[in-house]
Amino acid sequence: MTDPALTLNEFTAALGSFEAEAGPAVAAATEADALEAVRAKYLGRAHGWLKDLSAKLGQLPKADRAAAGAAFNEVRLRVEATLDARRVALAPVRDAGALADPTMPARETWPGGVHPVTQVIDEMIEIFRELGFTVALGPEAESPWYNFGSLNFPADHPAMDLHDTLYLSDDLVLRTHTSPVQVRTLQAYPPPIRVLIPGNVHRRDPFDASHAPTFAQVEGLVVDEGISFADLKATLTHFANRFFGATKTRFRPSYFPFTEPSAEMDVLCGVCRGSGCGVCKQSGWIEILGSGLVHPAVLESAGVDSEKYTGWAFGMGPARTALARHGIPDIRLLYDSDVRFLGQFAK
Ligand SMILES: [Zn+2]
Repeated sequence: MTDPALTLNEFTAALGSFEAEAGPAVAAATEADALEAVRAKYLGRAHGWLKDLSAKLGQLPKADRAAAGAAFNEVRLRVEATLDARRVALAPVRDAGALADPTMPARETWPGGVHPVTQVIDEMIEIFRELGFTVALGPEAESPWYNFGSLNFPADHPAMDLHDTLYLSDDLVLRTHTSPVQVRTLQAYPPPIRVLIPGNVHRRDPFDASHAPTFAQVEGLVVDEGISFADLKATLTHFANRFFGATKTRFRPSYFPFTEPSAEMDVLCGVCRGSGCGVCKQSGWIEILGSGLVHPAVLESAGVDSEKYTGWAFGMGPARTALARHGIPDIRLLYDSDVRFLGQFAK
């Protein structure tokens, strides 16, 4: 007995219901496994619906087979394309399922943190902001006049030597301190002035455990009528107590070309509280900053009347301060960008 012959109309109807059923079935699959089952049911080579339709092609009258075959291929391509699109759409859902698997090893995360030197600078700015200071910035490439001349350096001062200063050209140096910004600020604004000046400075220093050729500096400047050394001492002692916690300070006479008189400020060693240890080299004190009353020649070179106004200034290295605060033995660790080191200071 042979199969009953099939008419073209019957085949076209079967093809139509195949597409009408397979399309919604593909759309209804919400997981990759369900989609695979739909694929096997409709498009499977072994015993899918499409295979049955393909077999029916042979039962059609020969004259109708070419048109029916073309229609069959069109429908097959459309259903396969729908299926592929659905597979792509479901892929992220499948990945999310894998991430939720509690047996997967955790991915390492690298939370950001503020560099220990920047932490020192930020805290200084915060403490001095409470006292009415604002922040002033200036260029890192300076004229020798701003870097030395305006700050009362004598023409033969050794700091201006090629061995100590990086010259970009005859009239341009990489600033060796943030002090040029004192002069720029005094030129730009009339007193009273209270500014904090953070920034990078450059010197021809070796790169060793306690020196770096480029390092941050924070400088402070106060200029007003009737400013005295008592203002300097009171303000810097207040800063030390805020920054290091209740501590003791001492001032030692020193010399800088741009201040007169000049003094260095020490704070009690936070590690041994004064009894002597390796961090303070057995002295019980840590040197924190240099300071002094602004030299009248500096005020005059900035166009400020030194008969009417007086001022005081200080400068400190936040990297050294960070070393002292955390007991870090080598300044190069601050420059290495090693996350194992820096991660210990992340807040
Ligand atoms: Zn100590």
